[in-house]
Amino acid sequence: MTAVTQSRYLVIGLGYLLGEMLSVKFYGVRGSFPSPGSSTSFYGGNTSCVAIYDAESKNTEAVLLDAGTGGFSASKELFDRGVRKLHVLLSHLHLDHIQGLPFMNMLDSLECEVIVYASKEYAPLEDVLAPVMSPPYFPVAPKQRSATLNYLEVSKAFELRGMGLEVVPFPITHSDPALGYRINAENASLVYLTDHQCGSDFHCVSDDLIQWGKGVDLLVHDAQYTSSEFISKSNWGHSTYEFAVDVAEKMQVKELIFFHHDPERSDVELSEIVQGWKAADRNFRISAAREGLVVDMIRPSFAKALNSTSAITQG
Ligand SMILES: [Zn+2]
Ligand SMILES: [Zn+2]
Repeated sequence: MTAVTQSRYLVIGLGYLLGEMLSVKFYGVRGSFPSPGSSTSFYGGNTSCVAIYDAESKNTEAVLLDAGTGGFSASKELFDRGVRKLHVLLSHLHLDHIQGLPFMNMLDSLECEVIVYASKEYAPLEDVLAPVMSPPYFPVAPKQRSATLNYLEVSKAFELRGMGLEVVPFPITHSDPALGYRINAENASLVYLTDHQCGSDFHCVSDDLIQWGKGVDLLVHDAQYTSSEFISKSNWGHSTYEFAVDVAEKMQVKELIFFHHDPERSDVELSEIVQGWKAADRNFRISAAREGLVVDMIRPSFAKALNSTSAITQG
């Protein structure tokens, strides 16, 4: 262990003690539809859901990025941590990003408030979303649930003051209107960019998009297809590994996590693909999201002590 690594873990330890850690936990990493089974059990079969919460757990607010089938266990764990106000930032409304929403236990607690955010393209959001959480698709309508449930259409940056975060939504190219999100803490930042249509040459990224993620610590990016798979699925709204790496390079991120894995991608295949990308010498770390992975991001006063502001631990 190098001196830099030792000091990073020392600072992370201090962060835990003093409640200065922001945790990013993956509850669902799969794209399109769930894929349970022995060949996918390492990375996991649940669809898109990533939580952001204060590691010290004293904060009663948390963020969910999408609410795919991973939202079921995310809601249970966050409720057990004491979270009572949940901000659910939806990238878009495809089933793999909303299917866990009606199954979240926090909707059945009088103590809880759930706020669902999505693109203004879906306004009024309640009219679009509530029917798919109601009979005949789900046995109980949202208005009959115990929690307070609110809907917000967003297009500009806003603050989540209870968490000390700025949320910056930005439009991305997909088969239906979709948003990426940049989350800024004072000295830590991440971009969530799933369901992102790859350019036809694997490299065509708009300058505007690069600016949304410029210099971010952590980029979570759609990486559903290999280049050869992409040939027959080039208009399905997703990215290749090559494209995700190119976006990360252009944004000058510190860390890239492949996300929205193809439902037919086995653990063995995915591990081989990730190892191949890791082998090249780059200025940023590369890994693949898996259920239970926790990335701890260091918040203000501690970040200044280190060159890097994030470190991966296994949850
Ligand atoms: Zn999706
Ligand atoms: Zn989609």
